[in-house]
Amino acid sequence: MEEDYPRTLMELESRFSTEAACIEYLTKLRWPKGFVCPHCEAQEIWKTSRGLFHCAKCGGQTSVTSGTILHGTRKPLTMWFRAMWHITNQKYGANALGLKRLLGLGSYHTAWQWLHKLRRAMVRPNRDKLIGTVQVDETYVGGEKPGKRGRGAAGKVLVGIAVEVFKRDDDEIMGRLRLRHLEDASGDSLIPFIQDVVQPKSIVRTDDWSGYINVSGYGFTHMVVRGNELKSVHLVAALLKRWLLGTYQGAVRPSHLSYYLDEFTFRFNRRTSASRGKLFYRLVQQAMMVDPAPAYSLKGPSLPFLIGQANSNLDPLDQDRNHYM
Ligand SMILES: [Zn+2]
Repeated sequence: MEEDYPRTLMELESRFSTEAACIEYLTKLRWPKGFVCPHCEAQEIWKTSRGLFHCAKCGGQTSVTSGTILHGTRKPLTMWFRAMWHITNQKYGANALGLKRLLGLGSYHTAWQWLHKLRRAMVRPNRDKLIGTVQVDETYVGGEKPGKRGRGAAGKVLVGIAVEVFKRDDDEIMGRLRLRHLEDASGDSLIPFIQDVVQPKSIVRTDDWSGYINVSGYGFTHMVVRGNELKSVHLVAALLKRWLLGTYQGAVRPSHLSYYLDEFTFRFNRRTSASRGKLFYRLVQQAMMVDPAPAYSLKGPSLPFLIGQANSNLDPLDQDRNHYM
């Protein structure tokens, strides 16, 4: 299907000013080959006056948002479209206060929930694995004291990083990125992460940490390299920490960290995309593919967890290990 999206805020405003226009757009993205009843898989339908699809075979009624991340919303889709435009047009990420103001939402909590729902749509289900040469490392975020590798430290959480790299002339170019909140830096945590995000037979570059010792036993070509040959993955670690501090002032709960990692990955993997409209398109498309996130699964924004401190611009772990950013 041709990718059809608004190019500017003006286009968004004029095109998606009604619920019907939003429903039509979502319908095309959710069922590119035509409506299929989620109950009986029939394709014969009629539309009700309330914009629902009525299945001619089983009589079931379906809204375009049912079973998606927008399931059960009582707010107009026109508002959701503006939220999705806003979130994809902020270079460094949107925060709840900004969204609350923009949409005139009644509460900070609602804005915060919307952002969390949309973050869930930032990962495409069944996305492809990384291929070629992939640099893998882990880094601690959060807490105030340096963390010791493999043992962790109070208030710190570990993030696994895998990034594709290519050589172009003498430069190292980064491809796609995957991140994961890890339990610890043992092989039991690191190997499943690599298996889940890297295609077998790819080259996996790591340092000589014991957690990576068995990588070659899982169908990868494992290359143990020096820190200066892991520049890209170290750069990602630095960017991630700066982003968590800058956009969210470090106020991220460990239990929510995965969603922020998804947002970072979404932005990173589309960093060269010239068109913001295209990011919007991807987000709306993926919102139609992701399961609902019931309110009880979105715990409130209170009791923030501090990811590092604004003045700690060097990661203690990286200092320990003489990493160069
Ligand atoms: Zn049906």
